[in-house]
Amino acid sequence: MDSCKYHPLTPATFFCHKCKINACDACVDTGNVYSDPKCFICGKEMESLGAMNYAVPFWRRLEETFRYPFNIQTGSLIIITGILTGIISFLPGLIAVIVSFIISAALVKYSFDCLERTSRGDFTPPQLIDSLEGGRLLLLQLVVLIILVTVAALFAISFLGSFIGGIIAFLLFVSLPAMTISLAIEENLLEALNPVKTYSMITAIGLPYGLLLGFLMIMMGSLEVISQLFSMVEPVSARILQSCAANYYWVVAFHMMGYMIFENQKHLGFSARESDNQGNANRGEHENIAANISVYIKEGMLDQAFKKFEELINKFPNNQSYQDDFFELLVKSGNKKTLTRYSTFYLRAIANGPMPEKLGIAYKRIAQVIPNYLPSSPSLRVTLAKVFFQRGEDKIAIAQLNGLHKEFPDYEYLADAYQLLADILAKQPRMQDKAKECQQFATKLKRKKQQEEEERKRQKTVKTKKVIDSSFENLRNSLSNDSNKGASLSGFGLVPKDEE
Ligand SMILES: [Zn+2]
Ligand SMILES: [Zn+2]
Repeated sequence: MDSCKYHPLTPATFFCHKCKINACDACVDTGNVYSDPKCFICGKEMESLGAMNYAVPFWRRLEETFRYPFNIQTGSLIIITGILTGIISFLPGLIAVIVSFIISAALVKYSFDCLERTSRGDFTPPQLIDSLEGGRLLLLQLVVLIILVTVAALFAISFLGSFIGGIIAFLLFVSLPAMTISLAIEENLLEALNPVKTYSMITAIGLPYGLLLGFLMIMMGSLEVISQLFSMVEPVSARILQSCAANYYWVVAFHMMGYMIFENQKHLGFSARESDNQGNANRGEHENIAANISVYIKEGMLDQAFKKFEELINKFPNNQSYQDDFFELLVKSGNKKTLTRYSTFYLRAIANGPMPEKLGIAYKRIAQVIPNYLPSSPSLRVTLAKVFFQRGEDKIAIAQLNGLHKEFPDYEYLADAYQLLADILAKQPRMQDKAKECQQFATKLKRKKQQEEEERKRQKTVKTKKVIDSSFENLRNSLSNDSNKGASLSGFGLVPKDEE
């Protein structure tokens, strides 16, 4: 079993032939619902490993296999048919044959349903009611198959002698599970009887098939032991016990064969997944991008991971956790360039978000990677200055405001910023002169701003006046022109036209 490259404890479900990477359902690109999952690294379609790789080899789940019939439905079927078979075998004649045939048919049908279910990856036994309804054609084919093989074996032994006949009977016995499996997959008796098919199926399954045969022989041997042990005691209960054991083994054997299909489905041209694992075709776009990021990070492809994170954040701007995750990654990776670019955006999002108190912590984490970090937004720097001033960390607050007028000469609230700086400096020891200087600068800025505002207002008034004046001028001109030319405003419906 190969595991996912990025989840060593998870079995792989896909393989990329280009990158030679095994990946699980969570680590493949399911962004395009119309194509098979793609590789996050190279973008090529990946090959599905189906459940073959997912499945534990059957000899490693023997306990589960032998516990499979231990439930009320299967258990009661085994015991009731066992008791009936045991009693009926002492009845004389044709009735016994017919009744025991019906009982066997019910058991065979149920076991075959166990096989079919298991092969689809559903390891819960079928319901009795469901099992006894429908599917009679397949049952008939299976019964015919078993009878044909038995008759052929007997025929071979009685007509070809014990050596050659024995070999043929042995080969038939060896092929019977493969024929049953083939019938379950193809639902076609003729295909199941085809010896070429049978041979290729046995070689496709390989060693586990031999193990299956081994278990079948052990089970049959144990039946012999049971009958010998109890036959001396009391024949009816011995027969009942033997029938129950035979029925139990029968169900287990069919469950094993079903598991063989499930386990080898890729080789047998059959596809199923374990029922509790439906893959993630319904995964949302954001989850797909998040999976991609996870793969990039584990591959150490950080630049690509950063790009995907930016895509994710642009597409889902309201999801704060993506922004937090990206921030964490940038801080941990120590990527100064991207962190510088992203930090202003991130800090601004926090400042405007539901938890602005996180601002100080976030800033300090950035500063661990980029000492003396300053955001590229003047308003953010003022906000940070306020935060740190409140927290009593005046040094950081001062750093935010110092030299702001040089970096952002056009910042609208520069005067307020320097007023704040003056207030902070005033509280520092031996900084009174600086504070005063700063206060003067803030006042100067305020005055300048006021002047600018007045000037703007004045210009606006002048401009408005000019516009009005020119409009009047135009109107007057057009009126005098109109009276000269005889045309009038009547064209506009303002003055009634002279009737001629
Ligand atoms: Zn994985
Ligand atoms: Zn690839």
